[in-house]
Amino acid sequence: MNNLRRFISITQLLRTIQSKSWVPRQCNMTSTAINQSLYNFSEDERMLKETVARFGKEHVEPYVREMEEAGGFKPELIQAIFDQGLMSIDVPLEYGGSGQTFFSVALAIEEISKIDPSVGLFIDLSNTLINRLFLIYGTEEQKSHFLPRLTKNLVGSFCLSEPTSGSDAFSLKTTAKKQGDYYILNGTKMWISNAEISGVYLVMANLNPQAKHKGISTFIVDRDTEGLRIGKREKKLGLKASSTCMVHFDDCKVPAKNLLGKEGEGYKYAISMLNEGRIGIAAQMIGICQGTFDKTIPYTKERKQFGQRIFDFQGMQHQIASLATEIEAARLLTYNAARLRDAKLPFVKEAAMAKLYASELAGKVTSKCIDFMGGLGFSCEYPQEKFFRDCKVGTIYEGTSNMQLNTIAKFIDNLER
Ligand SMILES: Cc1cc2nc3c(=O)[nH]c(=O)nc-3n(C[C@H](O)[C@H](O)[C@H](O)COP(=O)(O)OP(=O)(O)OC[C@H]3O[C@@H](n4cnc5c(N)ncnc54)[C@H](O)[C@@H]3O)c2cc1C
Repeated sequence: MNNLRRFISITQLLRTIQSKSWVPRQCNMTSTAINQSLYNFSEDERMLKETVARFGKEHVEPYVREMEEAGGFKPELIQAIFDQGLMSIDVPLEYGGSGQTFFSVALAIEEISKIDPSVGLFIDLSNTLINRLFLIYGTEEQKSHFLPRLTKNLVGSFCLSEPTSGSDAFSLKTTAKKQGDYYILNGTKMWISNAEISGVYLVMANLNPQAKHKGISTFIVDRDTEGLRIGKREKKLGLKASSTCMVHFDDCKVPAKNLLGKEGEGYKYAISMLNEGRIGIAAQMIGICQGTFDKTIPYTKERKQFGQRIFDFQGMQHQIASLATEIEAARLLTYNAARLRDAKLPFVKEAAMAKLYASELAGKVTSKCIDFMGGLGFSCEYPQEKFFRDCKVGTIYEGTSNMQLNTIAKFIDNLER
């Protein structure tokens, strides 16, 4: 009886997997489905990966340093990213998106982050946090109003962190009070990515502080809303082309129809978004690892010391081979979490592991690549030092490494997936 039950559940699992669009079209789906390599891309995924790689080479790479020095993206690049469909990869076609999978989102973030992790973050935030909040929790009216604009030219910001609440996000102090047909928001958000260029802000504020996290609600705040003010821009170690600012709400008057989902459920929405978002950050980190590695190894085959290529020293080869193996492991963790998410299977522990491992690894890979380049690695004329700076935030945002370890440990403690 137990075996029969097990067989039925495997059959159901296979059916679920077969119904997903990422399954390669040419493949006859039988029990081989769960044995496929994570690199077995569908035609759509392969095309997307190639297109994004080409787009990155042509439209991003020539301007990476210029944008870092200017502290912002070129406006024409922002529009080109929208036109390419990269801001709405898994938004359904009916709202103007590309109707692809979450796995494709991860592939796109990885590819573009090989070239510029700031652009990777830009794409990541729209796809993994902003669009999804609207898609999952928005009313039909909110979806029809915002999603087509988010696919065309509207940038969004996710506003959770505050000066006194980061890892302990739900101790946030921003308040909301219902007044007639409006909610009045008061408080300050910190570290808000894209804040300078966003047209819409998804803001977590507490309607009932006595109920603690159960008072937190999510509000859609248009940029021109009375009482919203973009504050100080942070001077950062890396990701300099991505704007990160404080956002102030001073008696900010938000129409009642701009409540997203239900009152008091904002904390659940934030948790579920960040669980998925971590896969995006892991993808950004493997992009950084691979991008730095690819730009470094050719040099080790050209540079000669003691009459031979530095690549030929066994001391170098073993380090290079170890890094390649670890990058592969990080990628497989990330792809697996994304595939699980698309298959609607539990993925939270796997996403935390992917983000933890990939972000810690990015620090190691970029540092080692600087070493392999010798003095040149320390020069701003080469990309390694920028990747080294850009990757550091991976162990901090969307949950620090300690917070990922806490999540993983909770699963181990409960012996659940
Ligand atoms: C470039 C950048 C962009 C960002 N973009 C956004 C954004 O768009 N929207 C947004 O809302 N936020 C954003 N953030 C904020 C980010 O999510 C927070 O910085 C992050 O969650 C950490 O919070 P914190 O900075 O307050 O650090 P803290 O929470 O103060 O952590 C400090 C240290 O204490 C450790 N620690 C804290 N609690 C525990 C615990 N329970 N167990 C073990 N160790 C613990 C942490 O691991 C860390 O090492 C961004 C941050 C940066 C740097």
